[in-house]
Amino acid sequence: MKLLVIGCGGVATVAIHKCCQNPLFTDICIASRTKSKCDALVEILKDKTSAKLSTATVDADSFDSLVALMKEVKPHTVLNVALPYQDLTIMDACLECNANYVDTANYEAEDTDDPEWRAIYEKRCKEKGFTAYFDYSWQWAYMDKFKEKGLTALLGTGFDPGVTSVFSAYALKHYFDEIHYIDILDCNGGDHGYPFATNFNPEINLREVSANGSYWENGKWVETKPMEIKREYNFEGVGMKDMYLLHHEEIESLAKNIPGVKRIRFFMTFGQSYLMHMNCLQNVGMLSTTPVMFEGREIVPIKFLKALLPDPASLGPRTVGKTNIGCIFKGIKDGKEKTIYIYNVCDHQECYKETGAQAVSYTTGVPAMIGTAMVMSGTWNKAGVYNVEEFDPDPYMDMLGKYGLPWVVDENPVTVE
Ligand code: NDP
Repeated sequence: MKLLVIGCGGVATVAIHKCCQNPLFTDICIASRTKSKCDALVEILKDKTSAKLSTATVDADSFDSLVALMKEVKPHTVLNVALPYQDLTIMDACLECNANYVDTANYEAEDTDDPEWRAIYEKRCKEKGFTAYFDYSWQWAYMDKFKEKGLTALLGTGFDPGVTSVFSAYALKHYFDEIHYIDILDCNGGDHGYPFATNFNPEINLREVSANGSYWENGKWVETKPMEIKREYNFEGVGMKDMYLLHHEEIESLAKNIPGVKRIRFFMTFGQSYLMHMNCLQNVGMLSTTPVMFEGREIVPIKFLKALLPDPASLGPRTVGKTNIGCIFKGIKDGKEKTIYIYNVCDHQECYKETGAQAVSYTTGVPAMIGTAMVMSGTWNKAGVYNVEEFDPDPYMDMLGKYGLPWVVDENPVTVE
């Protein structure tokens, strides 16, 4: 069975390393905008795996380019680890070429000034009550098309969304009758030595972090100003960190898929240097997605900024320290209140030694491989469009331990106020 991976950045590098360790993947084609990156990765991996590896160029913004490639490659499944901008074109091409679809991030429009997109976006903001540029409605709308073709689209199999969503399904299956509160805590205690850099694609990262925050409470969204809600938490393996409430995509799917949940919040840690740089860049307009004229040509400020910032894929050798990502669940079991915390601690340098990438790419790339394995092996086999928490979490959790992301269940955790 053949896998087509689209994109060859930090997350793809880890996902492909991990596919090469798993005998399920016998034939992998790596296709991206810059083919030389795919060729360089094949050079590193070709003597370490029995999988047959090939590479190709593709423009994932173009349906025709994707279909031409997929007709040649004939993949069983496509793993999209390019950018969220390309989710819908890749899903369309999968339907056209009868391939299953897997990704790690939900659809986001690249041009947020496009009037047609804006009209739909503004209607959604009013109806749903949150203003993030990304949401699941676009991809969930493909449910019937994937069902009709007997294909599976698995959405959001990174760490968050992804592992945090599987942790939620696992907690519900094994520890609770009902989960009422979920706090997702994403801590990166790594230090790369630069005054400012992002750990994954700068454009996607900065758009997410500079936006309004929001959380789900009692059946509706509560929106906050960016970084308005701050807490401190003492993370195992990292220590005390400031963390801030953000909007995050798995809140939307967990609110739909975890029955009886009353509140879901997402917190991410940021250091003062990161926040100071980000605020300054935002204040001078460098995070804008609206094109401006500069010396006779049009440039998009955030894209120009991306060209100046360190490539996240280059942070691996410099980053030391650990990540700690997980969820605190509070609910009811056998009529009694119960709280547990499920988390993973991951060491940046260990990840780098194994795959050449730092822990943020590692913690996303490993679950990208696992979700793809669930679909390709038929372990998760349901035609339609689904989020990872809608399947049996046990086989996924087993693979997390086996492929480098072991998890801990703390049955007496410190909670977040
Ligand atoms: P990178 O920017 O490192 O890599 C993106 C890759 O996609 C690059 O190889 C790039 O090509 C390629 N690409 C971009 N546009 C196109 C296009 N039009 N056609 C073909 N290829 C294209 O990003 P990351 O690896 O950091 O992130 C990958 C994905 O993972 C993103 O969607 C991100 O949001 C998601 N993510 C999810 C997380 C989770 O926990 N769920 C956490 C972190 C990331 P080129 O090399 O030419 O630029």
